[in-house]
Amino acid sequence: MEKRIGFIGLGNMGYPMAVNYLKEFSNLVVYNRSQEKCIELQKEGAVAAKQISELVEKSDIIGLSLPGPKEVESVVKEILQTAKAGQIIMDFSTISPKLACLLADLAESKGVNYVDMPVSGGPVGVRNASLSIMIGASEEEIEQAGLMPYLQTIGKTFHFMGKRGSGQAIKIINNYMAFTAQVINGEALMTADALGIDIDKFYQVTTTSSGDNKILDAKMNKVKNEDYQPGFALDLVVKDLELARELCSDSKIPNFTLNTGLQFYRLAQSKDCGGLDSSSVIKVIRELNNK
Ligand code: NAD
Repeated sequence: MEKRIGFIGLGNMGYPMAVNYLKEFSNLVVYNRSQEKCIELQKEGAVAAKQISELVEKSDIIGLSLPGPKEVESVVKEILQTAKAGQIIMDFSTISPKLACLLADLAESKGVNYVDMPVSGGPVGVRNASLSIMIGASEEEIEQAGLMPYLQTIGKTFHFMGKRGSGQAIKIINNYMAFTAQVINGEALMTADALGIDIDKFYQVTTTSSGDNKILDAKMNKVKNEDYQPGFALDLVVKDLELARELCSDSKIPNFTLNTGLQFYRLAQSKDCGGLDSSSVIKVIRELNNK
């Protein structure tokens, strides 16, 4: 039987997720801190909840796509105030594995199932239903809970990592790799600038040679067109790299490159790039060459 879906957090990722659910399923209730996005979805047939308790009452499963740990913790605790045993929370946000485990335990004490399911692929990946989803549960558990159709509406590749928190752990490691690589891409482009190599030639050669990497391809047009409208806001990169530092610190392991990479994003934040796309760090790095 089709489940009633509730969705909280209608930002760059959550809004297109809600649009996909609306196309595929008949029942969608939405809630967001600011109301405009809810009103837009209401016009398309969603129910706009006035408060979280109303959404909880009208949903069987609740999807979350919130900025980070602070927002997820407060929203999950509010959900649990009125949630009923059997309800399921699918958390697509990126937070720490520790917090995911804590919230899963808290939910379990009320008979509610909280699963960390962070995603990769950006807003385009949502629209094409091609996200990679890292799931803090086993495949059998997700099948038994009947959640696969609700993951297939937004994603294509599903990684069943086992226990709660493990989806978040691999997601943070993935972003550690992607966003430190982006800093190296920026330094490489700054070097090309200094040597008088044209930006188109830089991309033609590196994207077809061994210097290529996924974030180089993904952000190439944004950098070339100087279009820094956020797909993934730079402030969220700082949040994710801080989460990666916390993981390293808890595990008592070094993180030299991560730390250096993080400083570039902080520099970009100090130049008012926090709300821009993560790739605006490349603009800031290239400006270091302005003699
Ligand atoms: P965003 O800032 O665009 O959207 C967050 C939404 O949550 C906003 O609409 C905001 O109004 C709403 N919100 C904030 N606090 C709230 C609250 N207390 N109650 C209800 N609504 C609240 O962020 P995003 O880019 O959509 O990212 C969402 C999550 O997905 C983050 O954890 C991010 O790290 C992760 N993520 C993002 C991308 C990407 O490309 N943007 C990719 C993978 C993962």
